[in-house]
Amino acid sequence: MSELRDLYQTVILDHNKNPRNFGADASANRTAEGHNPICGDQLRLYLVVDDSKRISDAHFDGSGCAISTASASLMTDFIKGKTREEVEQLFDRFHDLVTTPPGEDNLEAAAELGKLAVFSGVRDYPMRIKCATLCWHTLRAALDDSSEVAQTE
Ligand code: ZN
Repeated sequence: MSELRDLYQTVILDHNKNPRNFGADASANRTAEGHNPICGDQLRLYLVVDDSKRISDAHFDGSGCAISTASASLMTDFIKGKTREEVEQLFDRFHDLVTTPPGEDNLEAAAELGKLAVFSGVRDYPMRIKCATLCWHTLRAALDDSSEVAQTE
């Protein structure tokens, strides 16, 4: 288990250091801002949603802690090609993964979430859960076309 932990930590640190899909995207047709006041994480999400309602591209920028940056980096990779319904389901799964104790539900969620399973360790640090889920709240706001800043509170 500690080897797995180390691996997870390595992935998170790598995505924090070299975030994927980082930077404003002028061609985005949906954007939203998110703020996690507890930690001070701030991010803006840029989505390109095509005519068939699929997310064809996703970028983000802003500043936050390692967990929030890595989460946004992995999420923007993961949601490409997905529909709104698929994203809602993934958000539920991700929320289960980071909040419920290890068990069968969790394994199922982890299998579905692939690389995003690296955040399963966050459940041991309740303060960090909001860092990991901020980008997902922001994603939901962007898909809603909400002009309000998404809050984790
Ligand atoms: Zn944070």
